[in-house]
Amino acid sequence: MNRRAFLAGCGAVASLGVFGRGGLASDDPLRIRVWLSDRAAEYDKVGSRACEHLDSALAPVGDGVQVTMAEETVTLPAEGGRQVLARHWPRRVLEGAVGGDVNPTTGVNLLVTDGDPTEQPAGYGRRYVAASTGARYIAEMDLPEEAPGDLRYSVAGVATQLLLHECGHALGLTHAHGRATVSDGRVVASPMVGSYLWRPAEVRRQYLDETNACGDPLPPPTAEGERRLGLRYSPCALGALPS
Ligand SMILES: [Zn+2]
Repeated sequence: MNRRAFLAGCGAVASLGVFGRGGLASDDPLRIRVWLSDRAAEYDKVGSRACEHLDSALAPVGDGVQVTMAEETVTLPAEGGRQVLARHWPRRVLEGAVGGDVNPTTGVNLLVTDGDPTEQPAGYGRRYVAASTGARYIAEMDLPEEAPGDLRYSVAGVATQLLLHECGHALGLTHAHGRATVSDGRVVASPMVGSYLWRPAEVRRQYLDETNACGDPLPPPTAEGERRLGLRYSPCALGALPS
């Protein structure tokens, strides 16, 4: 932990106050704190783009969820790999070793690294803690208002959707909260379904059921159309979030 993170986009959390009250009252918003690794923070726009896309995707839940930027960056032993994403980062959050007065159980701590989002595992997410790679690509993303709700496949699109996917897990969502729609020759996968939709059938079955948690059927693996990456949570996902 050394430098201060670039702070455009969403507001910084004050070091004292937010988590310093011995837990959040039930009517306080669920706070997503976005952390950047030291290397991720070298891309000027990554913090603001990450916050803007999270803000945009979560806008329908109103004040129930609030996205903020951590004030400091995180020094990591590596930018990717299961050891860092799924063990090192969650352990540091749990041990309170990320600085400030982070409470690991009352808000989401979401780390963005400069790892390769095309290598597995590209991210990690469980209740309250998540990590996502692809900082350099997220930094290149268009602003949400310039990007439509769904995108043609690109690494930047994959990395941005992955950020929403892992954050969704940290907010308590599962793959069953996602959906995919087919219309006008386009197959659009929402963030919680993501690219699993297009994995080979036997792999897809491990991650996705045929219908989602709200009873919406997913298109069959044979569904034809341009593959599009959705940057909006499904109604089923939004309905499961605090509002
Ligand atoms: Zn997942």
